[in-house]
Amino acid sequence: MLSKKMEAALNAQINAEFWSAYLYLSMSVDFSAKGLKGVANWFAIQFQEEQAHAQILVNYVLSRGGRVTLAPIAEVQTSWGSVLEAFENTLEHEQKVTAMIHNLCEVAEQEKDIATSNMLMWFVDEQVEEEQNAQEIIDSLKMVEDNKLGLFMLDKEFSARVYTVPAPLAGKE
Ligand code: MG
Repeated sequence: MLSKKMEAALNAQINAEFWSAYLYLSMSVDFSAKGLKGVANWFAIQFQEEQAHAQILVNYVLSRGGRVTLAPIAEVQTSWGSVLEAFENTLEHEQKVTAMIHNLCEVAEQEKDIATSNMLMWFVDEQVEEEQNAQEIIDSLKMVEDNKLGLFMLDKEFSARVYTVPAPLAGKE
């Protein structure tokens, strides 16, 4: 059984992952409307990934006999001034999520909940990747600056991104 404290902390993270999904869907529809279909695709995949993160946590809480309580999802920004601004926002957000995951690890340790600590390690690794991805894209965007052809080429690259089911969900959908 999960402790009440651990259960509440995991439920808060489920809400945060859904909020992330909402944020990236908002970015996706904004750039779709602005004609940057590749950028819209990149964020649409990110939206799917965040839903998967929430699902992994939902499955985990249920597997431990815990209760999942879906709280309201707070509103998100609906428009970004540039692609660079959106990716800077993404990096900043993912850094906050990393801190949240690390905080969850601390709660698991305090609760002496080894199974939860172990489950969270996948998220610790995932956050390293999330921050790295956002940083690399920011670097590329800074390289092209206001060059329209450069942005066009990057947009083509973003359109190639495809969704892959995260390992903890593989075979469970
Ligand atoms: Mg996430």
